[in-house]
Amino acid sequence: MTNLNQAWFDRALAVIPGGVDSPVRSFRSVGGTPYTVARGQGAYVWDVEGTRYLDYVQSYGASLLGHAHPAVVEVLKEAVAQGTTFGAPTPGEVLLAEAMTDRVAGLEQLRLVSSGTEAVMSAVRLARGASGRDKIVKFDGCYHGHSDALLVAGGSGVAQMGLPGSAGVTAGAVGDTIVAPYNVVPTLDESVAAVLVEPVAANMNLVAPHPGFLSGLRAECDRVGALLVFDEVITGFRLDFAGAERFFGVTPDLWCFGKVIGGGLPVGAFGGSRTILSSLAPLGPVYQAGTLSGNPLATAAGAKVLSLVTPSDYDALAKRVAQFASRVEEAVRSTGLHCVAPVQGPLMGLYLSREPFDAPTDFDGAKLLCDNGLYREFFHAMLSQGVALAPGAYEILFVSLAHSDEDLTFTVDAAARAAEVALRL
Ligand SMILES: *Cc1c(COP(=O)(O)O)cnc(C)c1O
Repeated sequence: MTNLNQAWFDRALAVIPGGVDSPVRSFRSVGGTPYTVARGQGAYVWDVEGTRYLDYVQSYGASLLGHAHPAVVEVLKEAVAQGTTFGAPTPGEVLLAEAMTDRVAGLEQLRLVSSGTEAVMSAVRLARGASGRDKIVKFDGCYHGHSDALLVAGGSGVAQMGLPGSAGVTAGAVGDTIVAPYNVVPTLDESVAAVLVEPVAANMNLVAPHPGFLSGLRAECDRVGALLVFDEVITGFRLDFAGAERFFGVTPDLWCFGKVIGGGLPVGAFGGSRTILSSLAPLGPVYQAGTLSGNPLATAAGAKVLSLVTPSDYDALAKRVAQFASRVEEAVRSTGLHCVAPVQGPLMGLYLSREPFDAPTDFDGAKLLCDNGLYREFFHAMLSQGVALAPGAYEILFVSLAHSDEDLTFTVDAAARAAEVALRL
């Protein structure tokens, strides 16, 4: 059956704005019609026409073990038969919170929510409520979900659409949000409640923190009594067994998580020391709640994923990704196109240009490269060879634990052919 992708997308367009429930999925920035996914298994997804793609989207990082991992499927089957939501405490949320606090030094308590957006939004409220201060600092090109106060100078879909923020966000809502360039430690004052940072910027393609950037933020926050918030919605339990703190040796005051900790179901979490978390309702004056928070299915899947991945799995994946990235660079460069694929642990970016360049260090640098038009050609040339990258130049590649060496080699060869196509256009 052909044209099923188009048929499904046409139906989607009729009842869902732009045909998608999250803008980046729409193919707007690369052109064409999205493939509609019927199912996934390991490193692969199949669309409604039965075409198989080697998947580097992996739900934008939510899937670490690959799709439909048998152990996760099994634990979900057990959980679903017990009832899916109660509005009462459940063992699953305790087990997931224990697994996370066990790994991350200084993370004493956390609260589970249903998305990364909610996690960061709640962390900001907590930081303001606990400190009695109003201002928050974020970095240009970092994405922290779509809550009003943080929808300013965001990466990811916001960057692709060329929006400085969003319509519908009032000046008042972002009036206390200060935007600073990534990789420069801003000078703070005592009006600042919190500094939010992606420890590895992974929503403006990939921008690594300079040595000294995160520790500099730590010192500057300490100087003025501001809270340092690591938005680890991508990096948490993907960059490393314990996330960015262990990877970079810098400890924040608050952590935000999402993606990996839900094992493919909707979850987020924010946490920190017992002292700070005691400002949250019902203990303290900062209100925060959620009907489906700590959902039994999501906590079962998340805890299962965390239990299956060891520190050496992360180390091995990081090594494989480092080799993969340099092989992709080599393959692309062999055609005459310039390419840098920066790596941080198992996270990998991809920049293309007709001119030689260095890996960007901030949003301005990333934008110049992401907007040069080469990615859309490269993306489609990869897709036509059965390799699904994210449909936007501002996203990164997610190599899961299910990607085999053969998968990676196939991708390297496909990249050489795709680069030739992109170069000719
Ligand atoms: C994805 C993401 C979010 C938002 O998470 P959602 O689950 O999409 O709401 C927040 N921060 C970062 C760094 C992210 O990558």
